[in-house]
Amino acid sequence: MGSAGTYAWSVRIDLHAHSNVSDGTQTPAELVAAAAQARLDVMALTDHDSTAGWAEALAAARVHGTGLIPGMEISCKTDHGVSVHLLCYLQNPQHPGLLEEITKARTARLSRAERMVELLSEDYPLSWADVSAQVTPGATIGRPHIADALVAAGIVPDRTEAFASILTSRSRYFVSHYAADPVQAVELVRAAGGVPVFAHPVAAARGRVAPPEVFHDMIDAGLLGLEVEHRDNPAEGRSWLRKLARERGLFITGSSDYHGAGKPNLLGENLTEPAVLERILEYGTGADPFLT
Ligand code: AMP
Ligand code: FE
Ligand code: FE
Ligand code: ZN
Repeated sequence: MGSAGTYAWSVRIDLHAHSNVSDGTQTPAELVAAAAQARLDVMALTDHDSTAGWAEALAAARVHGTGLIPGMEISCKTDHGVSVHLLCYLQNPQHPGLLEEITKARTARLSRAERMVELLSEDYPLSWADVSAQVTPGATIGRPHIADALVAAGIVPDRTEAFASILTSRSRYFVSHYAADPVQAVELVRAAGGVPVFAHPVAAARGRVAPPEVFHDMIDAGLLGLEVEHRDNPAEGRSWLRKLARERGLFITGSSDYHGAGKPNLLGENLTEPAVLERILEYGTGADPFLT
């Protein structure tokens, strides 16, 4: 592997997974070991708003002989308040503009989590210390960590149940947070030599979905791919995405969005075609992958 056109069709490539550097439940090294166990040939580490797991994951990838694409999932929000997740691969992790955006998002996520816990503590026996205890030091904090504290307190059985009730975006305990503009985020990723891919773009169950003009604006700004094969995209939305990809010359990916024990998603449940990985390797010039 490594040069264009050399991947066999049987190669298993999953380009979306989280470690405990954000809201996954495994360390980066444990995640790579799980990928090897799941017989993945190539995985991408895409923690929310952080690249802090890259070095550990790359070291583990060498040990296991598993290909690793360093990446990230950037929290974005349209000016109408619609949440957009932007995956990026092989970007320069030190790019100042990109660093500034993710630092702002991470800081905002912290005060937002504190505010949500404040609201929750009016009705549930839950303190900030309970939530802090669930977060790996330095990790990007999110609702999954609040969910873990609710589980530890015996208030809900698991994360899924927490998101279905107390923590949904329609809940009275929900608080929004600053997130990058998606068009600007696409521009920053390209400026950092990275490959921007719209994550689970039609996942209606998570909240409102971006309107077509947002897709077109992001494509005009340099978006390169759409994550079509993802369990949260309903079938009719996938057909629309495939048509859009054909019309605007984007590639499509398939991935698990694995979060360890935090979600039912399994490594390798969706896969990306080798030819698409070749395009990602061609466009991604800001960081080095590890390939076997
Ligand atoms: P936040 O970014 O803090 O608003 O939280 C959203 C994150 O929670 C997403 O990145 C998902 O990984 C996670 N999430 C969403 N729904 C669920 C669910 N049903 N079970 C577990 N995790 C979820
Ligand atoms: Fe997540
Ligand atoms: Fe996401
Ligand atoms: Zn994700």
